[in-house]
Amino acid sequence: MTCWGCSKAEENPQTGAYSAGCKECTARALANSPAYDTSRRAGRFTAEYKRVLTLAFGDDWQAGHEHVKRWSQRIALSKMARDAEELGLDY
Ligand SMILES: [Zn+2]
Repeated sequence: MTCWGCSKAEENPQTGAYSAGCKECTARALANSPAYDTSRRAGRFTAEYKRVLTLAFGDDWQAGHEHVKRWSQRIALSKMARDAEELGLDY
């Protein structure tokens, strides 16, 4: 958590702020990507998702994937919290 985009994401995981060259921002961007979404729904690494992971993280693509999953969870929780707030649910 060192760059500008990551600081923004700490406050709001749904932010569209990304810094080029930041691995954490890249993982967050991939968590929002159709390639990851398709892979997640399929329950396996699709060729396209593995390709973008390898482009972003090279030989560390599996470690990168763990970061993508973590961001995906944080983003989903953030959306649920926002929806709950909009519905006036008190949790
Ligand atoms: Zn960053």
